[in-house]
Amino acid sequence: MLTLDSKVLEVSPIAKRLSARLKKMGIITILDLLNYFPFRYDDFSKLKKIKDLIPGDIITIKGRVDLIETRRSPVQRRILTEAVISDESGTIKVVWFNQPFLIKNIRQGENIYLSGKVEASYKTLQMTSPEYEKVKKITSTAGRFAPVYPLVAGVTNKHLRFFISSILSLRKNIKDWLSSESKQRLNFLDLQEALKQIHFPDNKEMLIKAQTRLKFNELFLIQLQSQIIKKKLKDSSSSKITFEEEKIKKFVQSLPFKLTNDQRKSSWAILLDMQKDYPMNRLLEGDVGSGKTIVSVIAMLNVAYNKQQSAYMAPTEILAKQQFNSLCKLYKNEKVKIGLLTRTEQKMCSMDENIKKKDFLNKISAGEIDIIVGTHALIQKSIEFKNLALVVIDEQHRFGVEQRKELSEKSETQTIPHFLSMTATPIPRSLHLALFGDLDLSIIAEMPKGRKKIITKIIEPVERQETYNFILNQIKEGKQVFVICPLINESDKLGVKSVTAEYEKLDKKIFPKIKIAALHGKMKTEEKEEIMQDFLENKTKILVATSVVEVGVDIPNATVMMIEGSERFGLSQLHQFRGRVGRSEYQSYCFLFNDSASEKVEERLQALVDSDDGFQIAKRDLELRGPGEVYGKSQSGFPEFKIASFFDHELIEKANSEASRVLSSDMDLENHPELKNKIEELKEAMHLE
Ligand code: ADP
Ligand code: MG
Repeated sequence: MLTLDSKVLEVSPIAKRLSARLKKMGIITILDLLNYFPFRYDDFSKLKKIKDLIPGDIITIKGRVDLIETRRSPVQRRILTEAVISDESGTIKVVWFNQPFLIKNIRQGENIYLSGKVEASYKTLQMTSPEYEKVKKITSTAGRFAPVYPLVAGVTNKHLRFFISSILSLRKNIKDWLSSESKQRLNFLDLQEALKQIHFPDNKEMLIKAQTRLKFNELFLIQLQSQIIKKKLKDSSSSKITFEEEKIKKFVQSLPFKLTNDQRKSSWAILLDMQKDYPMNRLLEGDVGSGKTIVSVIAMLNVAYNKQQSAYMAPTEILAKQQFNSLCKLYKNEKVKIGLLTRTEQKMCSMDENIKKKDFLNKISAGEIDIIVGTHALIQKSIEFKNLALVVIDEQHRFGVEQRKELSEKSETQTIPHFLSMTATPIPRSLHLALFGDLDLSIIAEMPKGRKKIITKIIEPVERQETYNFILNQIKEGKQVFVICPLINESDKLGVKSVTAEYEKLDKKIFPKIKIAALHGKMKTEEKEEIMQDFLENKTKILVATSVVEVGVDIPNATVMMIEGSERFGLSQLHQFRGRVGRSEYQSYCFLFNDSASEKVEERLQALVDSDDGFQIAKRDLELRGPGEVYGKSQSGFPEFKIASFFDHELIEKANSEASRVLSSDMDLENHPELKNKIEELKEAMHLE
């Protein structure tokens, strides 16, 4: 007897033979098979008559096999299978190459469906290598929409259709954890029915209903998870940080610039959050250069006024150091003690020498340092804090519950610190809700006043020399240049080859008299730091780097961002590169070198020329490439959807409110054991006790 947990190899001898390949597709058990969804359907309901076919059509026809035979083609030395198919309106010729077994499968006199492209051949029409399906088989299982699955070599759609249809009845054993009340209210299919319809839809309408239900499942589970985290945080305690309004106002007035409205609003939200006795969990989102740092600075200062500690975590050591230096400057009139802790350095402001590691750690645990700046690795180190109340994380979206707990254990106080994550990645609100429902959101949408718009230009091959001349002039005026190059090949993950090649070209051929430096992932931290330092001090004029160029580096004197092979980067990434310049009163430029002649590429890049709004650009990018590509698969916290998409705005909203209902106290989970189990499972997966 087969069950949902049975191995797929038990389904049939063919399944057994293919089990290794199926495993590659993530299919091990029968349940996996049921949950392996088609990515599209061949619509056999829109059959075309043979007499209506025109060359170029991609269609399905239904007809009788009048003739089928195989022969070896003498010219190309391949096996040709030719057939003549007819329906009541006409006749068409069909050709397949190198599929000798076809003659055994398709018999004269049989009725079959054929899907593929129609071509003109001499004076008649022909279909070349169409997909075929016997009429009888299809009507028994597939109705008129035939599922098309993502495949690996050796496994065909027919295999999958066969395996799935033979175990489809087992779906009855899957428990639907959505209550009948919810299903009725939302007008959703039962899970069992949805599973049947997703594989073998009766019609278009049922297919859409099945997709809706299954998408909802995925989105709903994520919402449940976020809300469980949110609730969990509400139930835990953190130090209440009093908003020292007078002192903060004074500090803000002492700044060399006026805060923008969005900076003011975000700071306000954060300061109020931290007055509560449960941990803040907020994401501060703002384009590069929008001034996120100062917002975190205000928050950390307020914590210091409360005699508690903050940790500021940067993504790289170079950035940690840069941040440390700018904090020292900003706080020079305050009695705040700031420390830098990286793999190589432990020091305080206005100190040239390192303190001994042990002494430094003692200072932290004694509470003699108010703000500790370091990399994300800070939390993994053997640091004990006296009273860590706030953690600021730059350029990371999400912080795991696990890491949070770890951090709170590092502090004597046993409270969970407040969390502020900052990111320059623009994530539209609906997407945010879909992914990070547990994080409150503040957005800095407006740029500080007086920034000049960066002039962005797509550079065609013929304009290369002219652009080099322009860049040379900028350098002669004392300005500096970033050059970003794409990876030459897959194996060049650290960019050694591409950076070196570009560097040599610029150094030897294009700008022989200019001091140029290269930066790639293979270099040691100290080496990188030295290069960045030289660039910061304007000793080198051009910095050649890969896309890994330290995000967030602040080189106000750089006015040119030159990007080689720009067609190979995503729009959001290009926008991030562009944000490295234009950080001063000088006019800045972004040159997108484009070697591709494709109009599509041109059109895509044009989006950058037309817009400097990161959200706009991200939206376009998402439409073109999908979230995995845009935000990077490695970005923690980006779930991989099987069927849902981030564009399912309405469903995301529904899933969100349904999750709230379910978790609200008026829902009696005892009456819904399936749902209760699901929630327990989620909690378990999150290591919540
Ligand atoms: P990001 O959001 O990319 O982290 P930063 O915080 O590094 O941006 O700020 C970029 C630059 O803008 C810094 O040099 C900062 O001093 C400056 N800046 C921040 N806020 C303002 C403001 N309101 N007016 C003028 N300049 C500002
Ligand atoms: Mg920053």
